[in-house]
Amino acid sequence: MGPDAIHIDANTRLIALLGYPVGQTLSPFIHNTAFAAQSINFAFAAFPVPPERIGDGVRGLAALHFAGAGVTIPHKQAVLPYLDELSPRAHAVGASNMIVRRPDGTLFGDNTDVTGFLAPLLFLADRLRGADMAVLGAGGAARAVAYALLVTFRPKRLALIARTPSKADMLAKDLTAFDEHEALEVHAFSSARAAVRGARLVVNTTPAGMYPSVDDSPWNDADDFGDDHIVYDIVYNPEETRLLSDAASRGAVTIGGLDMLVEQAAAAYVQWTGHEMPVDVVKEALRRRSEMLHR
Ligand code: NAP
Repeated sequence: MGPDAIHIDANTRLIALLGYPVGQTLSPFIHNTAFAAQSINFAFAAFPVPPERIGDGVRGLAALHFAGAGVTIPHKQAVLPYLDELSPRAHAVGASNMIVRRPDGTLFGDNTDVTGFLAPLLFLADRLRGADMAVLGAGGAARAVAYALLVTFRPKRLALIARTPSKADMLAKDLTAFDEHEALEVHAFSSARAAVRGARLVVNTTPAGMYPSVDDSPWNDADDFGDDHIVYDIVYNPEETRLLSDAASRGAVTIGGLDMLVEQAAAAYVQWTGHEMPVDVVKEALRRRSEMLHR
C-alpha cells in the first residue's frame, strides 16, 4: 500500500531518510504521496545507516546529487559535524531533522520539528503567551519542543519533567540563552504533580502510549487534568493516545501528534522542492492508511 504514480527517470531528484532502523517510518509515504499529488519529479526513500557510517551517509548525499535528506533517530545530533551550515533554530536545538543539498554541493541543516510542533498551537497563542507549561521527557524531541515554547510563548514557567533528570538538566543548560525569564525548571516525575496541575499546556515528548503499548501513559493520574489544560501528545500512532483520552475526559483541550508529523514534513518539503506540500491530501492519505492497517 502506498502512494500511486511515482515515476522515476534520469531526471528524478532523490531525497533520503537517514535513520537506524527505518522500517517503521512514515516519511516515504508522506513525501511520495505529495510528489504524486503534485506530479513533481522527486522520489523519497529510507536508508538504514548505522551510527558508525553516518558521516559516509551525509557526504554521500552531496556526492550523489540528492536534493536533500530527512534525518531521524538516532542521527539528529550526529549529523551536525558533517553539515556546512545550520539554521539558527537547528543550532539552538543542537539537532537537525532535515538537510538541503544546495546547487554548489554544500549541505544546509534545519530543524523543522520546531515549526511542525508549533503549527497546531499558533491559534491558541493568546492562551499560551506567558503561561505556565510542562514538558514530559528530555530526549531529542523535547529539545525542539522546549526551544519552540521558550522563544514563541515566553512562558512564566517551563517545567522539564524527566525520568532521567540529568538529561533535563543538560537541556535546561543548553537553552539558557533563550530563557530570559528564568522559566526553566527540572523535575523528576515523582515531584512534578504541582507543575502538571498548574500548567496551561502539558506536552508529552516521551514514547509512552505509542503503538503497540497503547495502554501506557506518561502521566497516570487523569485527575491532574481539568478544563484549563491543553494537553499535546506528539505521539502520532495512535492518533488519540491514552494520555489524550484521559485529559479529554476531564475537559482538557487535546492535540495529537499527526499535525506535527505532517507540518514538520511540509516545512522540509518546501525547502527541497520549492513547492508547498498539499497537507490536506497527505493527512487524508495517512488516515486512510491507518484505517486500513487497523481494520
Ligand atoms: P528519545 O530521544 O529517545 O527521547 C525519549 C524521552 O522519553 C527520553 O527522555 C526518555 O527518558 C523518555 N522516556 C522514554 N520512555 C519513557 C517512559 N515510559 N516514561 C517516561 N519517560 C520516558 O526520543 P524522541 O526522538 O525525543 O521521540 C520521542 C517520541 O516523540 C517518539 O514517540 C516519537 O515518535 C515522537 N515524535 C513525534 C514527532 C511528530 O512529528 N509527531 C516528532 C518527533 C518525535 P530516558 O532518557 O530516561 O530514556
